[in-house]
Amino acid sequence: MADLVTDVAASIRDIPDFPKPGILFKDITPVLADSKLFPRVLNWFAEKYRGQGIDRIVGIESRGFILGAALVEALDAGFVPARKAGKLPFETVSVSYDLEYGSATLQMHVDAIQKGQRVLIVDDLLATGGTAAATVDLVRRLGGEVVATTFMVELGFLNGRKRLDVPVSSLMVY
Ligand code: AMP
Repeated sequence: MADLVTDVAASIRDIPDFPKPGILFKDITPVLADSKLFPRVLNWFAEKYRGQGIDRIVGIESRGFILGAALVEALDAGFVPARKAGKLPFETVSVSYDLEYGSATLQMHVDAIQKGQRVLIVDDLLATGGTAAATVDLVRRLGGEVVATTFMVELGFLNGRKRLDVPVSSLMVY
């Protein structure tokens, strides 16, 4: 586990001032491109949530899609995308939330989660927690029970987990 954190930290690429000045962007694409490391990361998520009766994995656009979809077989749970506004073709439920500048909207299909289903929310990175909190809201609006939110990377200094009233796990914390 310590080895995994070391290897992931060494693989993630820091991009200063992207997408805007002052943000240090954690680029996980080198982890995804590593055929040995990426499966070890997936295994960390799988070991944590296997046997917890997860029915649906919700991945947050867009890097949450990559992680979440890759966990379907290991967790025996179907995948649901939480998408940016205007992308989903069927009837949707929406939630808007504040960003540093302006606001954003996330949507899911109204039939993506059935009442009482146990849901794991997955994304690559937890920053301020606004995106994850909005996704928790969406799942609850459809009657789902959020078992946990889980991330590859957590920016601990932004205190995102304080905004989440569900269990939070992350492979590594900066
Ligand atoms: P937040 O709502 O502030 O927790 O932001 C989380 C979302 O923004 C996630 O989907 C992340 O992929 C993305 N994000 C925020 N900050 C960063 C960062 N420093 N590096 C990479 N992705 C980030």
